[in-house]
Amino acid sequence: MVLAQLGGSISRALQQMSNATMIDEKVLNDCLNDITRALLQSDVQFKLVGDMQTNIKKIVNFDDLAAGHNKRKIIQQAIFNELCKILDPGKPAFTLKKGETSVVMFVGLQGSGKTTTCTKYAHYHQKKGWKPALVCADTFRAGAFDQLKQNATKAKIPFYGRPNGLRGNFITDFVMIDQELVYTESDPVRIAVEGVERFKKENCDLIIVDTSGRHKQEAALFEEMCQVSEATKPDLVIFVMDSSIGQAAFDQAQAFKQSVAVGAVIVTKMDGHAKGGGALSAVAATKSPVIFIGTGELTDEFEVFDVKPFVSRLLGMGDFSGFMDKIHEIVPMDQQAELLQELSEGTFTLRNFLKMGPIVLEAISMLPGASQELMPKELDSSNLKLMNESRIMRIARGCGRPVRDVMEMLEKYKTTAKTWKRLKISKKGDMNAQNMR
Ligand code: GDP
Repeated sequence: MVLAQLGGSISRALQQMSNATMIDEKVLNDCLNDITRALLQSDVQFKLVGDMQTNIKKIVNFDDLAAGHNKRKIIQQAIFNELCKILDPGKPAFTLKKGETSVVMFVGLQGSGKTTTCTKYAHYHQKKGWKPALVCADTFRAGAFDQLKQNATKAKIPFYGRPNGLRGNFITDFVMIDQELVYTESDPVRIAVEGVERFKKENCDLIIVDTSGRHKQEAALFEEMCQVSEATKPDLVIFVMDSSIGQAAFDQAQAFKQSVAVGAVIVTKMDGHAKGGGALSAVAATKSPVIFIGTGELTDEFEVFDVKPFVSRLLGMGDFSGFMDKIHEIVPMDQQAELLQELSEGTFTLRNFLKMGPIVLEAISMLPGASQELMPKELDSSNLKLMNESRIMRIARGCGRPVRDVMEMLEKYKTTAKTWKRLKISKKGDMNAQNMR
């Protein structure tokens, strides 16, 4: 996961601070120095890091803090808030309105994942009942037309585009595609306008315009992007950014923001192992909210983005509401109330664990029928000491699986139970992911 290293370093710094017997200026400075180092090593822009440090020091002013204040909590909260601030411009993204047609234009550097993300975005909204359509206004990259057309066809989304003509050559030409004569076109503005007009007539309510990848040194391509924007008048411009973008990220993102009215960001390739700090800086440069993240190459590897749960998870603080959402999403309706009641009473038993099957899918799919093999006493216990060798052997025999699988399922239960305990503690205690929303 992108940013994992940064998250690990920051949570270690916070942990070290928590271990100190007394929180004084030195402990705070050590903690902030560790965090600063981690942020810079991850490519977060120098100015952002400096501002963050200054803000935290302003909030955690030892002279102003009366005795009895929980300094640990105040420091942790300040760090959490500052990290959220980088990703949160404080204004919501444009929301699509049902019953109206919205035009959404995608911009970004070449290779950032724009074309893939256009289809993901269309597919996501199609599942929610929208009628999306895709327009390919990328006449620069060879293959862009074919790529978007193929993606659109696969996802059953209407598509408009024209194969590349010779750039700068105004003589119209045509090619044969699927035994049809198709006119080529080299002017992305013309294609974009034609596509938007066609899909408006066809009553599509979400028209997505994919544009060529470009970087700020390419003035002509930037000018062309502005022309597409002026001609199609998008309701929303989405800047697509690769999470592995390094130090140059801030300037590039700022150049896009200054040329077109970027209103939202989608960060792609979050499934990779990039340092990710460049992407954090770039998001700050756009002053626009991140609305989705890409987590793989497949069309449904796409997640809605929410700042606070993301930062909570990054810092290893758990995502309580995400956990609850998951329960609502996957546990059958008639079992939810009972399960939540049991969980809130604090006993995280094997029975609860097995009810939450899909959350621990690997374990359950490894052991179909395990729940039938467990005896009530075992199911209702939260103490794994009960699960001695002979019980484990019996369960393994019963569901016809190797002992190793039973052991792995129990291990999975143990870690989930631990997470649950931590979430409960954090829910009550000082570092509460839920309270920080
Ligand atoms: P464009 O030039 O900006 O249109 O980029 P493309 O959509 O062609 O994507 C470039 C490469 O990134 C392709 O190989 C995509 O499959 C890949 N890609 C896009 N989004 C993701 C993502 O979220 N995760 C991963 N692992 N790969 C992605």
